[in-house]
Amino acid sequence: KGERLRLPPWLKREIPVGKNYSSIKEKLRKLNLHTVCEEARCPNMGECWGGGEHETATATIMVLGDQCTRGCRFCSVKTSRAPPPPDKDEPVNTAKAITEWDLDYVVLTSVDRDDLPDGGSGHIAETVIEIKKRKPDMLVECLTPDFRGNKKAVEVIVDSGLDVFAHNVETVEELQKFVRDPRANYQQSLNVLEHAKLYKPSLVTKTSLMLGLGEKDEEVKKVMEDLRKIGVDCLTLGQYMQPTKRHLSVKEYLTPEKYQYWASVGDKMGFAYTASGPLVRSSYKAGEYFIKNLLQ
Ligand code: SF4
Ligand code: SF4
Repeated sequence: KGERLRLPPWLKREIPVGKNYSSIKEKLRKLNLHTVCEEARCPNMGECWGGGEHETATATIMVLGDQCTRGCRFCSVKTSRAPPPPDKDEPVNTAKAITEWDLDYVVLTSVDRDDLPDGGSGHIAETVIEIKKRKPDMLVECLTPDFRGNKKAVEVIVDSGLDVFAHNVETVEELQKFVRDPRANYQQSLNVLEHAKLYKPSLVTKTSLMLGLGEKDEEVKKVMEDLRKIGVDCLTLGQYMQPTKRHLSVKEYLTPEKYQYWASVGDKMGFAYTASGPLVRSSYKAGEYFIKNLLQ
């Protein structure tokens, strides 16, 4: 309670500047597009956007606006009961911009839009369709809301032709209530991931957990087992960082060794890959992992 933990040295990091970095940044400014990478001042930007000779450049683009109808206690996105309606031109504009960059892999994510009848699924799907129309070999991952468990909304996304369906369980079952908005819950999130897989078994599914919120090891293991049971292919585990003082405080900074341990547990359980490290985020080097582990 109250006491702030000190930031361990492995989390102090300058944002390195890769080759692609400046050119993407410049284009973004012109198009007024929002990336999570920039909004969250993600320390991985140099690596993800860099896309050096042997790397695959990845960026995370946010659609459906910057106001969320939910208020999770770990998240710094603005909350609004009635956000402005989605920009009808956004799917085409986003697709045009993304396909012009030197990117191989894009993560499309969004705020939760409980105010929209379809939860925004149609808008997200349209964006994927527009991207694939222009650049069919671009790999597209959607990191989706839970759509309150609406299966039809999940199917609309799957039918868009995306490559990876991601939805985050965020934390262990025991901490869901303290961490996520009350409209989200563990079982609902598992159902979303399960339904995407059942609806299209060849689709890659993926989820993420934040660590350091007070979860116990056996609880983490249980989530991993539950995820494997419903065929989730990819898992990422990363350190929770408190965005502002008003958000949940960090209970623990896990050591890099502990993250390695979880990666090996994930490998043994049979995930196609487990990306686990203090700075790993849901979309961390997503393209590189995908190409290395899933395209063989
Ligand atoms: Fe943030 Fe997503 Fe929760 Fe909205 S639903 S508050 S964007 S984590
Ligand atoms: Fe962007 Fe995700 Fe990479 Fe961070 S980890 S730079 S948010 S793609």
